[in-house]
Amino acid sequence: MNTLITLHEDIDARVEDIRTNNPDWLCRMGCDLCCRRLAEMPSLTHAEWNLFKEGLMSLPKTQFIEVSQKITALAAQTMRPIICPMLDLSAGACMIYEYRPVACRTYGFYVQRDLGLYCNEIKTELEQGALNDVVWGNHNTIDRRLSILGDSRKLTEWFADFSYAPK
Ligand code: SF4
Ligand code: SF4
Repeated sequence: MNTLITLHEDIDARVEDIRTNNPDWLCRMGCDLCCRRLAEMPSLTHAEWNLFKEGLMSLPKTQFIEVSQKITALAAQTMRPIICPMLDLSAGACMIYEYRPVACRTYGFYVQRDLGLYCNEIKTELEQGALNDVVWGNHNTIDRRLSILGDSRKLTEWFADFSYAPK
């Protein structure tokens, strides 16, 4: 079966394996460089958006309003990279961590043929000879499984159709 849940489970297993074999892995709370420099607007399948939406609705009202304003403003922003609107800038943490899209779950642990995909910090360690034994996840497989879940739309497009008034 290929659902968003099974995809998450498979990604979690790969991430867990890498973390277990590399206890000092760089990805941790407070390391937010990847969230501060998104090359493009995040794209989400419908299933990912449904989960993301739950995350948005779980935010306290003031945070929801702040995030909503940021996402709306991003629709008109042409400058790149993008700072993810879901990033708590002072904590360096994702405000919807449990609800985050697949790309955020794989980043730093998966690589893509011809593109790489590990972040520069991890790449530097790799170039220095560390991490040679890491069994990276294959992002081509993830993309294929995501495409089976349906078409993707930009976060700003999903959000434009979203109507929710926090209490
Ligand atoms: S992918 Fe890179 S920047 Fe992002 S949390 Fe991991 S080490 Fe930090
Ligand atoms: S959704 Fe969360 S984990 Fe993903 S880029 Fe934004 S802040 Fe980072």
